[in-house]
Amino acid sequence: MSTKFINAEMIETTKKHIQDVYLMDDRPWVVGYSGGKDSTVVVQLVFEALRELKSEQLKKKVYVISSDTLVETPLIISSINTTLMRIQDKALEIGLPIETHKVRPDASKSFWASLIGKGYPSPRQKFRWCTDRLKIDPANKFILDKVSKFGEVNMVLGVRDNESQTRDQVMKSHTIEGKVLMRHSSLSNAFVFAPIRQFSVDDVWDYLLTYPSPWGNDNHELLSLYQNSNSECPLIVDKDIKESAGSCGNSRFGCWVCTVVKKDKALIGFIENGEDWMVPLLEFRNWLSDIRDIPKYRQKHRMNGQVYMLPVNLEDIDEEDKYTIIEEEELSNYIEKNQINLATVEELNLLVKDKEGNHKKLGLGPFTLKAREEILRFLLETQMKVQEQHPDDPEFELIREDDLQMIRKYWLTDGDWDDRVPKIYKEVTGKDLDWEYNDRPLIEEEQLTDLEILSQDYGLNLQLLKKLISIEKKYSGYKVRRGLHQDIEKTLKQDWLHL
Ligand code: SF4
Repeated sequence: MSTKFINAEMIETTKKHIQDVYLMDDRPWVVGYSGGKDSTVVVQLVFEALRELKSEQLKKKVYVISSDTLVETPLIISSINTTLMRIQDKALEIGLPIETHKVRPDASKSFWASLIGKGYPSPRQKFRWCTDRLKIDPANKFILDKVSKFGEVNMVLGVRDNESQTRDQVMKSHTIEGKVLMRHSSLSNAFVFAPIRQFSVDDVWDYLLTYPSPWGNDNHELLSLYQNSNSECPLIVDKDIKESAGSCGNSRFGCWVCTVVKKDKALIGFIENGEDWMVPLLEFRNWLSDIRDIPKYRQKHRMNGQVYMLPVNLEDIDEEDKYTIIEEEELSNYIEKNQINLATVEELNLLVKDKEGNHKKLGLGPFTLKAREEILRFLLETQMKVQEQHPDDPEFELIREDDLQMIRKYWLTDGDWDDRVPKIYKEVTGKDLDWEYNDRPLIEEEQLTDLEILSQDYGLNLQLLKKLISIEKKYSGYKVRRGLHQDIEKTLKQDWLHL
């Protein structure tokens, strides 16, 4: 990469362009800042462009927002926090209308609430539920809040045309002919402005290393974060553009627990640089990635109860004689006769043969409750290890109290009547949180045993019964029990009950 060459004319033209677009309308700006190179260039250019305007021209607010997924790589998030603070301080000092904000996922949709609470399998490229829940939804919420206040907003993003061909096409398809703004793919009152569309990677680094950061950062430090990595998980606020954004997570910018990539370069890089206290994080992350596709950790139906089959080739199956092969129409009987609970069964060496003679196996769903318990336990143990080694912060948290409360809530609705979250927490940490204990459990131990016996006698599914009782409990005490019938109906219609 050359650092000698800098196209000063291009920089001046881009700043002028930014000024023109800023002055063009009354829409406030929302600038996405991920801490990576492209968004740093954009924020720096916007900062410099505004600085050159007269104070009476600075009428519109510019919100610089960063997402905190709450599972960010620890050193990266503290560097983002410092940068946001510096941007804010400098903007206030010189009178720029810039406001910095962090956006976070709702407690109900956080990484741990989704994975340990609801059982979402760790994200993969093909099932990347995390970017929506952790980044896009919180950013969109912020934008919609501004839309409701101001009518319309312009989002300013650090995307570049030649980052990938697909993204190039997406951006072209969104561009309003002859205009500098693109339509947002899903938010109708939001527009997207991409001032560094024409920049190459070299342009980006040339700029960052030649023009000092106006808020006092050292961009050489940013460059060193990119060693051995070439991508980032940007704070993307347009889904279509995001979808073509390449290998999110394959860099030091992203979540420490990211399983979208095979190898976590972020953690490995930091550990190689002497951050030994991160070793337990890497071990946890690798374990989480490894257990993902082991059938015993996963339910045998989807979260909505749907049962699905995957074709298998008998030749690919190890120890074929361990498997029971049944005809497809026998499946329902077989499950009922053997009292198989598809939500909890661990080993299910069952193959189904359809009418054409093809073999299939049951597809996997969320993590089982037992697997979720194991994950929570290991996460808390990891947190303890890190706390012991963490140089500056003995209270360092990998999982927050909010997450634990939410997990507890999700488990209770999934039939965890033992209320395991406070117990596991106490067992691992030796501490109690400020839990609100319910003095009157939903059902006493003895009653539960009766319920088990009765459900066996009558051939009823215990898990279903528990779920129905939990729903009833959720609505008890309300005069208007709106939603009760729909919840019951949804539960009764679950696919796995009607095989
Ligand atoms: S870094 Fe990985 S886990 Fe985090 S949002 Fe991006 S893809 Fe998901």
